Amino acid sequence: MPADRREARQAGVRALLAAEGLEALLVTHLPNIRYLTGFTGSAGLLLLRPGGAVLFTDFRYATQAPMEVGDAAEIEIDSASVWERLKRTCAAHPGQTVGFEAHALTVRDAGRLKKCARRTAPVGELIEGLRTVKAPEEIAAIAAAAALASAALAEVLPTIRAGQPELLVASRLEAALRRRGSEWHPFQTIVASGPRAALPHAHTTARVIEAGEFLLIDFGAQVNGYCADLTRTVVVGGRADSRQHEVYEAVRAAQWRARREIRAGMTGRQADALARDLLAARGLAEAFGHSLGHGLGLEVHEAPRLSATSESVLPVGAVVTIEPGLYLPEWGGVRLEDDIVLTAAGPVELSDGLTELVELV
Ligand code: ZN
Ligand code: ZN
Repeated sequence: MPADRREARQAGVRALLAAEGLEALLVTHLPNIRYLTGFTGSAGLLLLRPGGAVLFTDFRYATQAPMEVGDAAEIEIDSASVWERLKRTCAAHPGQTVGFEAHALTVRDAGRLKKCARRTAPVGELIEGLRTVKAPEEIAAIAAAAALASAALAEVLPTIRAGQPELLVASRLEAALRRRGSEWHPFQTIVASGPRAALPHAHTTARVIEAGEFLLIDFGAQVNGYCADLTRTVVVGGRADSRQHEVYEAVRAAQWRARREIRAGMTGRQADALARDLLAARGLAEAFGHSLGHGLGLEVHEAPRLSATSESVLPVGAVVTIEPGLYLPEWGGVRLEDDIVLTAAGPVELSDGLTELVELV
């Protein structure tokens, strides 16, 4: 059994709240509730207070919530309205200012909160900040997700042929992921062929893959709630032509450099520049229109961001993707994505890092 860190995590949040002069925090972002209590349900509110925490949820979770949460929080089940129940609880501490997650509260729920607490105050992404530093078991879960994702792709790649629709490839890959133990697909699998590979966030369609085209596959897996996120780009039904080689090798070199040279202590901008500068030197900067990568954890996109605008320092223990890409409208695109953890001794790869060009002939 891994260490139970929930109490220590809650204490960490309370320390951050105290620094802002707050005693209580209403946690509404579900991954944060999971992080602090273990609750995996799709509806709940968590009130963090000086002496403990209260999870408000509904009848659907009357059995599940106590099983998952144990001693990490009191549980209040209310089938009519969790907000009414919260109001009654807050009424017992009328002097308390209740912080709320400004990035994770709808306008409607902000109105409900106003009726529960006389004084409220927005807080920033406090819990997300704590979540950037992963514990060993969190890293192990992401590594397990990355390993099964790599194995699922290795199983499916040899079955891909020109003449198959993108959706067929996606369905086989998703089946292989689930069979190997992925709890869910953390995002919609992207299988994009030919010119559609130029769309960084393409949807998978019924388009038939033609011989000699690039096929971009971006997919994830989830273990114990933790996500892996991989992208590979392969050539289907032929050999790469010289332009395909040139673009592919540029992305591969940029990704390789960033994977090797990223370090804890860099800013997100400095990490992003490892890849961006290399592509710029080859005259390809314009075609790399997104950021280098993002944090991975209970969410597939979380802090820290590796982007040209991020001055946040990357901590030891952060797990991030490294995913440069080049997108040439109407021609196609290449993206390569691996998952790494930043240790004090340097980056350690969690995914297989196999980025040599694959030509499925
Ligand atoms: Zn991805
Ligand atoms: Zn990603």
